[in-house]
Amino acid sequence: MTIQWFPGHMTRARRQIEDKLKLIDMVIELVDARLPLSSRNPMIDEILQGKPRMIILNKADLADPAITSLWVEYFKKQGHEVLPLDAASGYGIKEIPERSKLLLKEKRDKRAAKGMNQRPMRGLIVGIPNVGKSTLINRLAGKSIAATGDRPGVTKGQQWIKIGTEMELLDTPGILWPKFEDQTVGYRLAVTGAIREEILNVEDVAYYGMKYICEYYWKNIAERFELSEAPQDLDNPNDIVEIMEEIGRKRGCLMSGGRVDLEKASKVILREFRAGKMGRISMETP
Ligand code: GDP
Repeated sequence: MTIQWFPGHMTRARRQIEDKLKLIDMVIELVDARLPLSSRNPMIDEILQGKPRMIILNKADLADPAITSLWVEYFKKQGHEVLPLDAASGYGIKEIPERSKLLLKEKRDKRAAKGMNQRPMRGLIVGIPNVGKSTLINRLAGKSIAATGDRPGVTKGQQWIKIGTEMELLDTPGILWPKFEDQTVGYRLAVTGAIREEILNVEDVAYYGMKYICEYYWKNIAERFELSEAPQDLDNPNDIVEIMEEIGRKRGCLMSGGRVDLEKASKVILREFRAGKMGRISMETP
């Protein structure tokens, strides 16, 4: 599902999050570990108004671990807690409550000093579409979430999901828009599948991804598709298209007459990239 972000939607999305900020102690911002900057909302700092924030580098299973470590340092320097994660398998999610405690340490220490009880830490998950917000919420909620929403007579209002005894999360995430001004951002999001490639052109999207992979992860695809020769000139479109065609040929994407169907080849390339078949690839470095 692609959300069309008109100015009215943006304003509403922003207000919804701002209303929820009053209810919570901290924000969990999800970004895609493969492109942590392109998968963020451009106004996020302004919208969150200085709320303590944990940045989750989700889909870390698909990202280059060495680059993910650099991103962890990058965001730490900005004063956030950072946690690489794989919401789909659940790997790493157990750390969320402990890390949240670190994030809210000052506030919690003050309460303790006054002899007050600690109440559960309350959080809100935010992020652009497709970064894995629902996946993470469902993982954290286990079965408890299904019992509430759609029973007759139960208002579908704000629900809190309990994470152990020490943490509660709002069950609906805050959905924010990605950056639109920057074409590069659009292509990166399309390569990873965060926005539908049909919005752009599937061959252009695959070309963009292939160029990046040829430059930084040549070995990965050389191995997978048994490619013999790396492109000579990365800035020569023909050289990249030749690689795409070679992959297409190997995957049987042919038209009558034996020519490569570049559109089909592009779809194969994107599908294999997104499924992690080309190995763990990051598309942005700090
Ligand atoms: P939302 O729009 O932010 O709620 O995103 P979803 O939770 O619907 O996830 C979008 C897609 O990403 C789905 O196909 C998920 O299965 C997939 N996904 C979510 N988290 C992960 C992850 O950690 N690793 C991988 N490989 N896929 C994930």
